[in-house]
Amino acid sequence: MNDALVETPTDADLRSSSMAKWMSFLDEQLSPGVAVDAIGAVRLLRRFTLTGPSESVSTLLRRAIASLGIAVSDEGACENEGAIRFSNPERLLFVNFVPTLSVGAASAQRRQFVVAHELGHAIAWSLAAHPCSRAAFGSRVVTEYDCERFCNDFASEILVPNPVRRKISWPRTQLLLRDTSQIGGLPGTTAPTSDLTFWHLRALAAAHGVSIRMMISVLHRHAMLGDASAGVAVMRVVPNRQTGREIGLRIWQASCPIWGFIPTNKRAKRLGFSAAGSIFDTIASFESAHHREQLTVWEQQQQRQPRWCKRMLDTVCEYTAVDTNGEGRFIVATWQWPHATTDEKCN
Ligand SMILES: [Zn+2]
Repeated sequence: MNDALVETPTDADLRSSSMAKWMSFLDEQLSPGVAVDAIGAVRLLRRFTLTGPSESVSTLLRRAIASLGIAVSDEGACENEGAIRFSNPERLLFVNFVPTLSVGAASAQRRQFVVAHELGHAIAWSLAAHPCSRAAFGSRVVTEYDCERFCNDFASEILVPNPVRRKISWPRTQLLLRDTSQIGGLPGTTAPTSDLTFWHLRALAAAHGVSIRMMISVLHRHAMLGDASAGVAVMRVVPNRQTGREIGLRIWQASCPIWGFIPTNKRAKRLGFSAAGSIFDTIASFESAHHREQLTVWEQQQQRQPRWCKRMLDTVCEYTAVDTNGEGRFIVATWQWPHATTDEKCN
């Protein structure tokens, strides 16, 4: 999914009549110089496809693909991933439909996420190319990371829309885990605790009919993580892009409270997840292990001016391994992350 997003449209792209209709629609809808965020982009897509919020995710995706003139193929993408190419006049959307067993989720969920994410790339491309939004969007979505973030937020907005996201709260999530009947008697559910655990995430994902990684993406900067004073990271062994050699456990995805962050793509060990590697190698899928860690996190300090600073956080990580058919093996870490008080040291 690390595809080039903000690239110059070719003549073939501009000649595509479906995309031309979308671009003319943007002419009417966009205010010059105003940046469109992921929520706004989904709103535009709903208007363009005449799809109301009560209609299903699959209806929206189907209409969007048809009205943007995107062809779908199951060739040319890695298993469970997607890619979108813009230079091809046939504008092929490559999606591999090989079923995967992700946590508490059928392959259909992964497929919906991949299609929604790749659609996000098409929308990002059009916003970056449109004269009304080019500058504002371009200054917001600068790096590949920004672009992937935009597409993940776009997919979140399609799969778990903002009004639904707003209803997610820490007290409700705790109740959800208590009422196991609501999550269909998933195996391995532990007793409720006062700390956010993998099982809370799993219960939330099941309740919203999305994959656990989608739910973790939805929770990034969500008030719930602040109320639970918790952080979440997903780690996996990432091969080097050039050599293909495995280079150790890295942070693949993270969800942080609004006042903090940990960088993704860094080696887990470097951020203080010291036991993650050995736990990753030894525990079975859906098993959890706990380890006291000193994590490196960044927090926003409200002094005279808000600024990000590094903090060493002593905490206990709960590590849970997850094996999936499509996405392989990964490990989910959750930890208690109370916001530093103002007199705590900050570098
Ligand atoms: Zn992508």
